[in-house]
Order: sequence, then structure tokens, then C-alpha cells
Amino acid sequence: MSIVSGAEILKAAREGNYGVGAFNTHNLEITQGILAAAEKKSSPVMISMSEGAIKYGGKILPEIVRILAERSSVPVAIHLDHGASYEVCMKAIQLGFTSVMIDKSHEKESINIEETRRVVKIAHALGVSVEGEIGRLGGIEEHIEVSHEDAILTEIVEAERFYRETGIDYLAIAVGTSHGPNKGVGRPFIHHRRIKEISDSISIPLVLHGASSVPAHLVDRINRAGGELNGAVGIHNEDIKKAVTSGIAKINTETDLRLAFYAGVREILQSKKGEIDPRKALGPARFEIEKIVAERIDVFGSAGKA
Ligand SMILES: [Zn+2]
Repeated sequence: MSIVSGAEILKAAREGNYGVGAFNTHNLEITQGILAAAEKKSSPVMISMSEGAIKYGGKILPEIVRILAERSSVPVAIHLDHGASYEVCMKAIQLGFTSVMIDKSHEKESINIEETRRVVKIAHALGVSVEGEIGRLGGIEEHIEVSHEDAILTEIVEAERFYRETGIDYLAIAVGTSHGPNKGVGRPFIHHRRIKEISDSISIPLVLHGASSVPAHLVDRINRAGGELNGAVGIHNEDIKKAVTSGIAKINTETDLRLAFYAGVREILQSKKGEIDPRKALGPARFEIEKIVAERIDVFGSAGKA
């Protein structure tokens, strides 16, 4: 049994000055790829599912993740990404999640605090960790799109107040990153000083959303195999490493996995036009997931920490 709470993994990461990936899954193959990489690298890992993933896979998806995680040799936390309401968080806890994010960052602060506090009260009674968010990231999330102009950096006093009044275990902050494969022109902006200032004022692990690297080699492979991704750019590895030394402990990664998955699938579809065996497309995609997750684990610094 190697399922643990999110706090157990992230407190150790913060104390040890390394980051842990929270990788999003939607199916069996992605989950297997994530765990294979974590085991090979001997790294703790968080496996995330959004509400959309649970709608797609039904209750069976968290079951699959739980069964695979139980058999894994590394510590695994099962995390709800961007839970939109108290009810969704409670449902996730019932389904065996050991970490939930309540995201009311689009509401006014008093509502965000009140809803987050409600989730914390129940979750903590059941040994489940909670992530909250203050500030507003740009890009497209599950149910909401925020333009880069409307993105708002997390304020230090807000973060302090939010932590004090909610008792969350870790906090997602907006420091310039954005969701999706288009993170800005040229070098995407990360406000490193703000990460350090927030981390100096509240001691809990911080979370970086929209942190994918969007590797050019994967974008090229997708485009060479018939895809059309324009202007795709991600966060540089040096920025991630620096963010980890400043207080980021949880690094959300979904876009990189999507790119890897599609690079694998598209190449097969293009090179083997007579192929109709699903395993011949999903098998290589699973291996691509394993490779990218292993690469990200090396960047985050969690290899050998299991
Ligand atoms: Zn996010």
C-alpha cells in the first residue's frame, strides 16, 4: 500500500528543497506511464484527475488509479485538480482521493475563504489534504478561460490571510504561468521574487499551475505527423528549478503529457495506415508518457526521494 496524503509528499518536498510532479491522467495507459516513470526514478508522485477526467472515465477511473497506486513501489497521492465546489471535493474524497483542490479563485475573496474552509474542515477530519488558490492564472482551464490581461498575480497579504483563515495544506499561486500550450511570446514570464516573498511569509508548500515545458521536439513531431500546433511555448527548465528553490513544491503538469501522448499516436497513425489494433497506438503513447514524466522528474529534482 503506497497511497499517501498530498501533505505527506509535499511537506517532505518543501523541506528537502525539491519539487514533485502532479501529473494529470484520463485513462489506464496514462496512469501506467506516470507510475512506470515514477518507479524507475524512485520518485514520489501525485496523480491528478480533473472533474472532466472523472466525467470522462466515470467512477472507474479513480478506481483504476487507486488499484495501480496501491501496487506501486513509490508513494502516490491521488489528487483532485481544480475542484469547482464543496460538493465535488466531497465526492472525490468518497472516491478515495487523498488530496483535493478547491478552486474558488474566480470568486471574491470572502467566498473563496469560506468555501475552502468548509472543505478543509471535512477533509482534514478524514486525513485528506487540501490545496487552495489565490490569484488568477491566464489560459484555459476545464471550465473557464482567462485572458493574459485578466490574469492577476497573487498578493502576499492575500496569501497570508487566506492561509491563516482556511488552514489549507498547500497553496496555488499566480506568478505569471498560464494553462495550456501557449504560454506567451518568447520566454514566458515567471515572477520569481513573488514566489520567494510568499514562501517567506507562509511556510506551507506552494503550487505552480501551468508549468509544462512544451518541449519543441514534441511539438515538431506532432506537426510533422499532420498536427497543427502554432505558437506553442512553455516554461523553461531553469525557471522551474529556480521556482523550486524559492518554495514551489508541487508542479502541475498536463500539457506536456498531452503533447507526448499525441506525438506517439499521430506518428503511428501516419506511418502505419493499415493498422487498426488500438494497442498499437496506445502502447507507444503510454511509452511516450513514461519518457516525458521521467524527464520532468529529473527537472523537478524528486528522483531518488521515494
Ligand atoms: Zn491548474
